[in-house]
Amino acid sequence: MRALRLMEWKSEPELVEVDEPKPGPGQVVVKVGGAGACHSALHLMHDFEAGALPWGPPFTLGHENAGWVHALGVDVSGLDVGQPVAVYGAWGCGTCDRCRLGVETYCENLAAAPVPGGGGGLGLDGGMAEYLLVPDARHLVPLPDGLDPVHAAPLTDAGLTPYHAIRRSWPKLAPGTHAVVIGVGGLGHVGIQILKATTATRVIAVDTRAEALRLAEECGADLVARSGDKAADQIRRATGGRGADVVLDFVGTDGTLALAAAIVRTTGDLTIVGIGGGTLPVSFFSVPYEASIQTTYWGSRPELIEILDLGARGLVRPRVTTFPLDEAMTAYHQMQQLRLEGRAVIIP
Ligand SMILES: [Zn+2]
Ligand SMILES: [Zn+2]
Repeated sequence: MRALRLMEWKSEPELVEVDEPKPGPGQVVVKVGGAGACHSALHLMHDFEAGALPWGPPFTLGHENAGWVHALGVDVSGLDVGQPVAVYGAWGCGTCDRCRLGVETYCENLAAAPVPGGGGGLGLDGGMAEYLLVPDARHLVPLPDGLDPVHAAPLTDAGLTPYHAIRRSWPKLAPGTHAVVIGVGGLGHVGIQILKATTATRVIAVDTRAEALRLAEECGADLVARSGDKAADQIRRATGGRGADVVLDFVGTDGTLALAAAIVRTTGDLTIVGIGGGTLPVSFFSVPYEASIQTTYWGSRPELIEILDLGARGLVRPRVTTFPLDEAMTAYHQMQQLRLEGRAVIIP
């Protein structure tokens, strides 16, 4: 079968021929129906030096996957060949406290995980191939009726990541509050929909690009603001001078973090989701009183079940552009040039 593989750090991946995977005991092979192209893969191609992560190339890209059960290893029950499934992408040890809760993103026994701190497309072979080997059946969530693999795939990361970040701030998103989404890309445009579907907060979206702000409006944003010198004042005014109860930064550069700190309300949440590499100085006087500042990473398996339910009911629907496997690099290049709207999904 063909697979889009990262062969070494600081290089573009190559489309190469590899053997089809066979499931060992407890494992499942999924026929990939959709593999989302995530911005973080651009960091994998361009930014990492050998040794910076506990894993490395060569591996097949694609950590955002859904498809159909293709082959079951011995001892796997509860799944049928042909059944549509989403793949929970963070593969931990499976037995530590965090993994037992389904929070395998924060596995605390990384030495016992299939790859420390990674998963398919992150150190192990991912979904940008015809078939994907999933090392344990617990990582598969059956798709609810109404959701196809092409639209389910981005929900496993571009949906799950903002869902996790928003869910933890639900108590701060009562009617009368404001939430700001900075960066209306693959994750941000889904984040706006999740805020609208699960809370009664007013949503303000910020981006540099007019097309992204149009997409934000189509996703339900109550107000959009062009990022720049005037954005902080505009958002402060829109919140009656109080600031936003929850600010979700899907970019994470110095500039967006400074904006986030300038617009967060006292006791608000400032959540850094984007891996833009920026920094935010935090001291007693640098942020409003009792503002909580946190990072979040991906989400849990129970949360994946919830975001798939929102997807199946049409309450959250990623804007998807599909590409065949041999045009996957076109998708990444368009993303890099900020020309891609919403999420690219590769159909192998
Ligand atoms: Zn991702
Ligand atoms: Zn674990």
